[in-house]
Amino acid sequence: MSSIATSQSDFEQAQKLLPGGVNSPVRAFKSVGGTPRFIARAAGSRIWDVDGNEYIDYVGSWGPMILGHTHPDVVKGVQETAALGMSFGAPCELEIDLARLVIDMVPGIEVVRFVNSGSEATMSALRLARGFTGRDKIVKFEGGYHGHADGLLVKAGSGAATFGVPDSAGVPADYAKLTLTAPFNDMEAVKKLFAENRGEIACIIVEPVPGNTGVMDLYSTGFLQGLRDLCTEDGALLIFDEVMCGFRVAAGGAQQRFGIAPDLTCLGKIIGGGLPVGAYGGREEIMRLISPDGPVYQAGTLSGNPLAMRAGLETLSRLRDPKLYETLEAKSARLVEGLLDGCKKAGVAATANRFGSMFTVFFTGADACNDYQDVCNCDLEFFGRYFNAMLDEGVYLAPSQFEASFVSAAHSDEDIDNTIAAAGRALAKITT
Ligand SMILES: *Cc1c(COP(=O)(O)O)cnc(C)c1O
Repeated sequence: MSSIATSQSDFEQAQKLLPGGVNSPVRAFKSVGGTPRFIARAAGSRIWDVDGNEYIDYVGSWGPMILGHTHPDVVKGVQETAALGMSFGAPCELEIDLARLVIDMVPGIEVVRFVNSGSEATMSALRLARGFTGRDKIVKFEGGYHGHADGLLVKAGSGAATFGVPDSAGVPADYAKLTLTAPFNDMEAVKKLFAENRGEIACIIVEPVPGNTGVMDLYSTGFLQGLRDLCTEDGALLIFDEVMCGFRVAAGGAQQRFGIAPDLTCLGKIIGGGLPVGAYGGREEIMRLISPDGPVYQAGTLSGNPLAMRAGLETLSRLRDPKLYETLEAKSARLVEGLLDGCKKAGVAATANRFGSMFTVFFTGADACNDYQDVCNCDLEFFGRYFNAMLDEGVYLAPSQFEASFVSAAHSDEDIDNTIAAAGRALAKITT
């Protein structure tokens, strides 16, 4: 590998100025070790660091770059719109255009509100669910990430479902108590929470394709349908947090792919095409409770700004081509098979989960990885060595075993071949 001296000195400076040298924790490479690369530019499937090293990028800004970096139409659209003014704090027509497109694409959304991040979307959706049901408690799953709002930084203690304890300093315990948690794919635990808190649970919030524990499967186990049925029976709302899997596993998200309708949907990442956008939407009857139509307050100075709306429009409108998802599916399947095959040849125990173009390879002897505890049992130390060896080979994967990697429309067949070959070399290096 060529030098990373500039990234190293950038990181030293950044650490003096920013907590951990970063503005979002996972970028600091804490769980994998090594020096985070400072990125200078990107194009298509590639990113280049400040020392000029080139990487095939499977992070894609954590998903938004589904068309690849610097797609010419997206760049041109954003440049055009920027020249007309970047934010007005007043309505603009691009908001109508993007709302129409989102409502058209996502089956469960009849009315939508735009915000500036996924965290804002989930936090606001929870407030809305509480406002609609008049109930205070919420259910989330162990290891499920829904942004950094107080009540969502909670996971279960070990063992059975229990009352929440905060995961972060600064979250009041009294507040965290309103968050009930259960393991993924454990329907009995969820039913028990509902039985013990009858009439008090406002909603279940779940990533229908979890990506923030590494990708896992809640669909073929019947778990998602179970949650839908339970919410309907109880009068609680089902919130699909599709910030990551929305527009990723299908044009209409996981709800379209699986044919299961949530009451509310949270969106982020791809919806902004790389600019800060989030959204929450759902059944009209619920959405009409939001201010100024109704009593649930939520606002945003930069929400719906023309620049972000344009980036979203240019990106989403290009996702309506069904061919795009077919090609992504085929490329991603070939990549993951190739990576697993490489592990097998190197004598490394591994399994993988993949929906469409989001995937995680787990280093474990277990047959499957479908709850948080399974991922905790993976060889996390080995993952760190694999990640860094891949980086040395010019492949930029998500820097944690608890994350998904993403294939974009800009990844070529040659990129996939080169990645599989790089993985073979990386494994040879770290297993001998
Ligand atoms: C990324 C993510 C969020 C948070 O979105 P931000 O834009 O980082 O605030 C919430 N939920 C899920 C499922 C995510 O993947």
